[in-house]
Amino acid sequence: MRKSISIFMAFALVGMFVYSCQKESLTQVQEIPQKVIDQLTKMGFNPDGIELTDEGYRIERDIIITDEFLATAGNETRVPGTEQYSTTNLVSTGGSRNITIFAEKRFKGGMIPALDEAIARYNAENLEISFSRVSNARQADIVLKRFSKKEEGGGLLGSAGFPSASGDPYGEIKMWGELDSNPNISTEVLATIIAHEIGHCIGFRHTDYFDRSISCGGSAVDEEDGGVGANHIPGTPEGASDNSWMLSCLDFAYRPFNLDDITALNYLY
Ligand SMILES: [Zn+2]
Repeated sequence: MRKSISIFMAFALVGMFVYSCQKESLTQVQEIPQKVIDQLTKMGFNPDGIELTDEGYRIERDIIITDEFLATAGNETRVPGTEQYSTTNLVSTGGSRNITIFAEKRFKGGMIPALDEAIARYNAENLEISFSRVSNARQADIVLKRFSKKEEGGGLLGSAGFPSASGDPYGEIKMWGELDSNPNISTEVLATIIAHEIGHCIGFRHTDYFDRSISCGGSAVDEEDGGVGANHIPGTPEGASDNSWMLSCLDFAYRPFNLDDITALNYLY
């Protein structure tokens, strides 16, 4: 009985995930000022399915855009190709900087070992930026927390935002609570999801943000113009990076850093 429930949950998870990808084209744009949509479009973001959350506007499934980010963003334009991208705002390291992450105490299942694994993946690259887990929220640069009740069940695995204009990482990662408690989700897969959200916090955009069908399936989401916040990372390839940890849809895949990801990480940090 227990096993059949687990299998059911696994299917439910996949179902939720597919739903989240499809939801994008179905979601009505509501109560979002046209000015905001225009600015996001100009900056190279796809405002389809934009939603208002407690933190700010949520776009491209899992990225939070705050009013502060909008106010400090630039206005260059660039037509994006198929490479890896960063935002203009990056974390200032001064040559070496440790970013501390605190996970809410309510995470008692797979989330903590997965966070440690995600941190280890970054630290193994010997970048100018490193990460460590702390046990006190007040010492944390980034707090890993659960979606609010309202957000849970919306089909999202996690969300995060981009660095501030002053060079600090985005301070909050929200995760779907189910990920913590479902024994069918491996540490490696959950670590991939957390590493993806950490990637946003330090300035990585989606590898395939210009056409999410590359990782999400379905019909191509076409963006005609790109802009700031879509800076090509030199050395990363034309043609979407296979299995990049920053692809839009994760599909519960195990995606450790591939060679292009490592190139991109080393270029930025
Ligand atoms: Zn993402």
